[in-house]
Amino acid sequence: MRSENQCPVCGNNHLEKVFKVLDFRGSDEAFDLKRCTACSFILTSPRPQDAELGRYYPKSSYVSHNERPTGVFDRIYFQVQKANLRDKLNKIQLYSKKGFLLDYGCGSGSFLGFMQQNGWMVEGVELSKEAAEIASKRTNSSIWSPDEFVIQPNKYDVISLWHVLEHLPDFERVIDKLKASLKPGGILLIAVPNHKSYDAQFFGNKWAAWDVPIHLWHFNKEVINRLAKKWKMQFLETLPMPFDAFYVSMLSAQNQKSKGWFLKGAWIGLLSNFKAKRNKEASSLIYILKKGN
Ligand SMILES: [Zn+2]
Repeated sequence: MRSENQCPVCGNNHLEKVFKVLDFRGSDEAFDLKRCTACSFILTSPRPQDAELGRYYPKSSYVSHNERPTGVFDRIYFQVQKANLRDKLNKIQLYSKKGFLLDYGCGSGSFLGFMQQNGWMVEGVELSKEAAEIASKRTNSSIWSPDEFVIQPNKYDVISLWHVLEHLPDFERVIDKLKASLKPGGILLIAVPNHKSYDAQFFGNKWAAWDVPIHLWHFNKEVINRLAKKWKMQFLETLPMPFDAFYVSMLSAQNQKSKGWFLKGAWIGLLSNFKAKRNKEASSLIYILKKGN
């Protein structure tokens, strides 16, 4: 096990404290964010051991694993999710028209189901047994648990990780497997929150996408660039996820206990998207990496 005080990206032993963040999902425990002084990677500290991580995941409010939205906020999220699915499809089809897709961390498979309806062959990996079962029924395709998943040599045209990498204790080992499972020239698509976005700067330690301690790692463009070199993959570009700016800003305004959280979140989300058009630092970024031929 790597030391808590070593950067897993570059191996540097000097980490500086950024600030304290509370677990707003319920435990109210405080965690530190620490930044590597060499490569700017940020990590959550202390990092819960694998066995303890589960208890920080709330059972019912984890929307992507929920089939039936309950609160008003969930219901809005559910509607937005439809538009979001279309947006994801369009973005993927910029690189690959049709083919074989693996979604790593596929939840209950709404994205896989949608891609399948649009002519893609699909498979998935999912940690939650309940979610995996729903995904498997929905797509009639293989949905593995992370432990079951072994390298599928040169099989997929596209592998996606939608807000998954930041949850994985052993993310580099997972990427190794995924890279080997991509066809030569295949695309790895990694979506993660971006703490260089306007909404992150605005909300500071109340920014919902810090999401400690279940977000173990906090990436940025420089870090992914460095990792892509290490993984021997080509960094093609980043794409914004405009819906996330609203979702994250609204949750952040709730973390601030702001009474007008909806309007405030909508406004900051709008500003964040507007600024990202210029500086390309959207609330969440999709990194497009390509495996060599
Ligand atoms: Zn580092």
